[in-house]
Amino acid sequence: MPKTTTFLPHYDANPEYNADLLRKSLPLMIKNSIPPHPINYAVWYEYVEGHNTALNDAIYQVINSNQELTEGASLKLYKQHICNASVESFEKINLNLQTLLNDTAESVESSNNRVASVSENLEGSALQLEKVDNFSDANAVIADILQETKQFSEITETLKSKLNRANDELLVLRSELARTREIATRDALTGLLNRRALDAELSDLVEHSLGSNHCILMLDLDNFKRVNDTYGHVVGDKVIRFAAGILKKYVAPDHIVARYGGEEMLVIMPNTEIDNALAVAETIRASLAKSELKQKDNGQSIGKVTVSIGVTALHVGDNVESFVARADQALYAAKSAGRNKVMQA
Ligand code: GH3
Ligand code: MG
Ligand code: MG
Repeated sequence: MPKTTTFLPHYDANPEYNADLLRKSLPLMIKNSIPPHPINYAVWYEYVEGHNTALNDAIYQVINSNQELTEGASLKLYKQHICNASVESFEKINLNLQTLLNDTAESVESSNNRVASVSENLEGSALQLEKVDNFSDANAVIADILQETKQFSEITETLKSKLNRANDELLVLRSELARTREIATRDALTGLLNRRALDAELSDLVEHSLGSNHCILMLDLDNFKRVNDTYGHVVGDKVIRFAAGILKKYVAPDHIVARYGGEEMLVIMPNTEIDNALAVAETIRASLAKSELKQKDNGQSIGKVTVSIGVTALHVGDNVESFVARADQALYAAKSAGRNKVMQA
């Protein structure tokens, strides 16, 4: 199945996290007399979440200048900072590519025209050469022919250098496009693959499993509400980022680490035996359990942050849902067994 890239805003967080943001944004919207319709809500949801710094800066500016956040202003924020950010960069690349193609086509056409006119002159000179009967006239016609031949090589050189320049520009555009695609598949907080890209990877794995062993790990940070409630969301976010870093450190380069939603992450381990998957899961669990996190600004300890992990291998006849559901059941068993545990389905 081809992987599609869309440019709509997407929200991967889990229900508790969303409920939490709802509890924070609604009072703010009421206080500022903002009608809670979907577009305004998207703006304030992202505001309290705090990841969209350009949006937050724009809102601070409105608040600091004591302006009212009118319907019009709100729609503008939505278009500029939520819906359009990625569409705009995509459209810019598209436009540049179109210009490049038009310029190249024009260069080729103008070279063709010049070649046609020089060819005509050359044919004329050839006819003249047939008719000349003395040495000095022949010399003059040959000089013309030489001149016309030189023009051919000039035209070719000009076209060659224009095509080379177009090729360089094309390489730049290609890498900009790859970057835009890359941004669309990444989770902004952790830099891990986002949920949409993960779903595509999982379908790919299940559809092309070809009889080898493939495993997934489903991870959920333990008692994470306590971290948020005690130290606030900003610290909570840093802890999620820290955990993501640990995951990246211990999985193999060809394994895929994704943010499943909220403080849940998923690792895809293609061509991996279950014993190997369990061993990596155990390394991740132990590494998080022994790290004593401190707040940067005041040095205060956040205490232990632990993780529970469910591990499962792909079975014959699995689809994405059954595969993930089994990892989820193993995770649930790890939670029930007291957390900070790795369990196999
Ligand atoms: P458990 O051990 O059972 O997993 O307990 P828990 O407290 O971690 O419970 P649960 O997994 O249900 O809740 C996760 C919490 O994580 C709730 C939500 O507010 C928080 N959370 C989810 N996404 C984010 C995020 O992006 N940033 C922050 N700071 N918190 C998040
Ligand atoms: Mg959770
Ligand atoms: Mg949790």
